[in-house]
Amino acid sequence: MQLVCLDLEGVLVPEIWIEFAERTGIPELRRTTREEPDYDKLMKYRLDLLKQHKLGLPDIQKVISEMGPEPGAKDFLDALRQDFQVIILSDTFYEFAMPLMKQLGMPTLFCHKLEANSEGYLVNYHLRMANQKKEAVQRFKEINFKVIAAGDSYNDTAMLKEAHAGILFRAPDNVIAEFPQFPVEREYDALMAQIRAASARI
Ligand SMILES: [Mg+2]
Repeated sequence: MQLVCLDLEGVLVPEIWIEFAERTGIPELRRTTREEPDYDKLMKYRLDLLKQHKLGLPDIQKVISEMGPEPGAKDFLDALRQDFQVIILSDTFYEFAMPLMKQLGMPTLFCHKLEANSEGYLVNYHLRMANQKKEAVQRFKEINFKVIAAGDSYNDTAMLKEAHAGILFRAPDNVIAEFPQFPVEREYDALMAQIRAASARI
């Protein structure tokens, strides 16, 4: 039995924080772990900014639903799900991802959770566990799945290494250079072909 594990942001949907910063005109929300390596500090900073700008969860979800998935992502996923069980492994939060999941036909998503207060403002975040992408692939292997994984960024490379076959999709040049063992694709048709080739090989 084979399983395909996909990253979400940068693969099926835009980078949510960056696109959100554009759409709301709050450039401070573009800050990433590159500028602030302490993830906890970064998240508290982001949640404070949202509250300062009086953006509660319903407002945030409205903006995210307007982003929509990447063009072609839904068709790719629908075709992939005909032939494989697909699980999306993401470091985003259910509350952010749900408007986009609806537009993708509600595929299975493993990610993290946010906590809102009674006024609808986000007050905290809860990571289900550290390194969940890699850990999930390891567990799927333990229950006898062969795993093909695709992702675009550093937070995917442990998952790609753990899988029986790993593929980089729309990855930046520095990631491609650092991980030359993985094939690189930029279009959904080519990614599908790469997944099918891996499926025949593993
Ligand atoms: Mg990504």
